[in-house]
Amino acid sequence: MNIPLHEASHACMAHLLGFELVEVTATDKGGECKDSGPAPLFARGLDHRAVGLREALVALAPIAVNEELSSGDEACFARALWLACLPQREGLVRRDLIALAREILRTRENRTAIAAVADQLSRRKYLTGREVAELIEATHRCGFIL
Ligand SMILES: [Zn+2]
Repeated sequence: MNIPLHEASHACMAHLLGFELVEVTATDKGGECKDSGPAPLFARGLDHRAVGLREALVALAPIAVNEELSSGDEACFARALWLACLPQREGLVRRDLIALAREILRTRENRTAIAAVADQLSRRKYLTGREVAELIEATHRCGFIL
C-alpha cells in the first residue's frame, strides 16, 4: 500500500464533501487522516443518512483511486460498509458507492489535488488540515457538491 497516496485520497474526499480536516499523517508504519467529525455537516442541515453516505465515501476514497484492494484498503472498505449501515446489501453498496467515489475523484483537478497532497505527505510525513485544504483548493476553485 502507498500510504501517502492512501491518506491523501481520504483527505481530498473529506475536504470536498465538507469535513474539516485536522491533520494528516503518513509514515512508513502507517497513516491517519483526522477530521473534526460530522458536526460541520449536521450544522449545514444534512441528516444522518446523508452524513453516513459522506463518511462512507471518505472511507472508500483509497479504493476508488486504486483499482485493486490492498490489505490496508480492506480495513477502510469494512468501515465504509459499517458507515453505510447496509451490510446485508454488501454487493450493492460495494458497487454503487465505489462507483460514486470514483466519479468524484476521477476529475483532473481532484487527481491533481490527491497527487499534490500525497507528494507533500511523502516528504514531510505530517500536514495540518489547513495545509491540506490549501493544497486541494490550489488545484481547483470549485469543489464537488454532493
Ligand atoms: Zn484508510
